[in-house]
Formats: sequence, C-alpha cells, structure tokens
Amino acid sequence: MKKTPPTFTLAGIVGGSSEASAARRDVLRGIAASVVSAVPIMLMAGKLKTQRHIAKVTNAERDKLKFLAYVDIDVHHGDGVFYAYEEDPDLVFADIHEDGRYLYPGTGREDETGKGAAKGSKLNIPLKPGSGDPEFLEAWPRVEQHLARFGPEFILFQCGADGLRGDPLAHLNYTSAAHAHAAQSLLDIAMRFSAGRLMAFGGGGYGRNNLARAWSAVLDEMVARKTSASKTQTNAQ
Ligand SMILES: [Zn+2]
Repeated sequence: MKKTPPTFTLAGIVGGSSEASAARRDVLRGIAASVVSAVPIMLMAGKLKTQRHIAKVTNAERDKLKFLAYVDIDVHHGDGVFYAYEEDPDLVFADIHEDGRYLYPGTGREDETGKGAAKGSKLNIPLKPGSGDPEFLEAWPRVEQHLARFGPEFILFQCGADGLRGDPLAHLNYTSAAHAHAAQSLLDIAMRFSAGRLMAFGGGGYGRNNLARAWSAVLDEMVARKTSASKTQTNAQ
C-alpha cells in the first residue's frame, strides 16, 4: 500500500532541508499510485533556504522527471532560481513580482525569457507598485498558458506573502484571494499534468498577519482538494 503523506503534518515543517527532502520523496511516492491519491504538500521555509532547496529538488529529480515548473508569486523576483536555470530548457519558470525598478533584487524584466535552448521557457511578469488583486488576476492566465505549453511533471510553488497590502518592504496590494486563486489554479494544473505533484513553499512576508492570511489561504485550498480527493477515493472503493 502506498504511503499517503499527511498534509497537516507537513504544514508544520519549518525550513530544514532534510525534512524538505523527505517531503519531496513522499510526494513522489504518494502520488505514484493514482491521481486520486495525489496529496499536495505545504512547506514553510525562508526564501533563500527555499531557493537553495529548489535547486536541490530540481537536480535530484532530473533523472525521473522531464519538465519541472517553478512558480513564484513572492513579491521579489526569484532571481536565485531564475539565474541558476536560465539556460536550462527543462525548468519551466513563471514569476509574478513587483517591478525590479522599484524593489530588490532589481531583476525579472519581461524580456528575460531564458537563454539559448531555454529561451521561452521562462516567464517574468513585473507589476507596477500599487498593483493588487485585479492586476494579479489579469496576469495569472499567462502563467496558466505557460505551464500548459510544457506540461510540467512536478510543480514547485513559492507563495511568499510579501505581495499583500501593508508589507513593510514592498509596495503591492494583494489580498489573500490572490494566493487562493493561484493555489486553486496550480492544483488544477498539477492534477492535469503532474499527477497532483505540487509542493508549496512559504517564501517571504514581513507582517505576521499577512503571513497567516496568505499561507492559510494556500493551505485551505490544498486541504479542500485533498479532502475531496479522499472522498472520491472512498466512494470508488
Ligand atoms: Zn520576497
């Protein structure tokens, strides 16, 4: 019998690359059985640690999976991942962030789409300061279309909370509805292409209330999907 990784346990993980590696293995094992046993996993980790881990994940899984997707809605451009894989055509990258002319690290221009064989595999969508849910929701279908073009077999979701209104470091005005929408959409895409393989990472966020709102919104979507998948599985037995 395949082991099903418990979402609620993994939600408590903080950082720790060994726990994250174990979680990654669980995703692969748990999902291998069938689509209905697909269990998304939530991990909380600091942004730099997350980026290093993602690099490890992508390298470690490269032998088993062809296209990996990294989707980043943290307010900062995911430069650590982007530049590490800028020339790698198998890492599908999509990042919505505050325009680098106004915020660290200053990268992630729209015309940065990957280099060489990887050209076109990277999508950067910078938003002007003051942008909120309407701008996010308007941009999001481009992320969906980008992922659908490649059909990733494993999705890494960096759901930083620092794009929410009131973050002390940044200047966007999302509500947690943006995070909920992204999570719902990625769950759909994961079920369609990746047998449900989706790992979410907390990322940045510098107001505790915003962290709670954004990450709870993502986790709620995952738990809801897991619950409905479990019911489907139970009914089918
Ligand atoms: Zn950030």
